[in-house]
Amino acid sequence: FLPMAAIFSILLMILTANWLRRRISWRDEIRRAMRNRQFSVHYQPVYSMAAQHCNGVEALLRWHLPNGDTIRPDIFISAAEEEGMIVPLTRHLLELMAEDIQSWQVEPGFHIGLNLAAEHLQHPEFVADIQLFARRVQNKKLQITLELTERSLIHDGEDVARKLRLLQLQGMKVAIDDFGTGHCSLSYLQTFPLDYLKIDRGFINAIERLDGETPVLDAIINLAHKLQLEVLGEGVETSLQFQYLQQRGVVFIQGYYYAWPMDNDRLRAWLNEQGQ
Ligand code: C2E
Ligand code: CA
Ligand code: CA
Ligand code: CA
Repeated sequence: FLPMAAIFSILLMILTANWLRRRISWRDEIRRAMRNRQFSVHYQPVYSMAAQHCNGVEALLRWHLPNGDTIRPDIFISAAEEEGMIVPLTRHLLELMAEDIQSWQVEPGFHIGLNLAAEHLQHPEFVADIQLFARRVQNKKLQITLELTERSLIHDGEDVARKLRLLQLQGMKVAIDDFGTGHCSLSYLQTFPLDYLKIDRGFINAIERLDGETPVLDAIINLAHKLQLEVLGEGVETSLQFQYLQQRGVVFIQGYYYAWPMDNDRLRAWLNEQGQ
């Protein structure tokens, strides 16, 4: 017969061991997947109202398992963030992108957007990592845009703002991603050097009629214009949504209505078809 306390501590040990094993295995799997080249980058074209064609893409990481399955990015990205693996994973992404980009034939100024995690922004080598990538693709004269979420701007605000200004002086742009979903105060809009605002898909979904009212979306667009930020609508799936945004001065559109994310080979064929 065991006293209650002993039973509890044994249970606790079993749970902790399980938890540790899961932690270690996520981290190991991400490492192994990088070595075995299970990650690749997909690119989703962005439509420019001004140019009336695609003027750039957003890079989206993909994880393919040997059995043909894929793991969703929101799952493995948050796992990588929790396990301290997001910096190595992002460096891996930058290497894959640099290889892909060498096969592109695009106009100077073609946009490439990349997603960055909060932890990477605080990393002492963040600026160096981005500069290395920029040097590796500088022959293509791309417009590099760093996509950050509201969450990544909360911590070490001054330090992060300083790093972003440095990169902007070297020609990079900064976009606030998933705008309106971060549950944080808007004060960062005054302190951070932002160029673009990406409206989250949730607000675009609300568009159901051309003459309809979507007060929050309309307010976001007005706010962006007042702040002299260029606005991109994300997750645009219908021509109605496209027209609504066009009428209100949203200058960039991204979503299945225009183009799906695609691998590098399909992207090159797609750009070719567009006459680019
Ligand atoms: P995100 O940065 O907001 O990326 C846009 C997501 O919306 C992508 O999902 C894209 O496939 C999806 N999407 C695009 N158009 C449409 C549409 O018309 N309708 C709908 N329903 N969805 C659309 P994905 O690729 O699954 O990525 C999910 C999230 O994972 C990204 O959201 C981003 O936060 C994160 N992520 C992806 N790749 C990376 C990466 O390389 N680094 C980091 N840190 N995060 C990444
Ligand atoms: Ca993004
Ligand atoms: Ca987004
Ligand atoms: Ca998102």
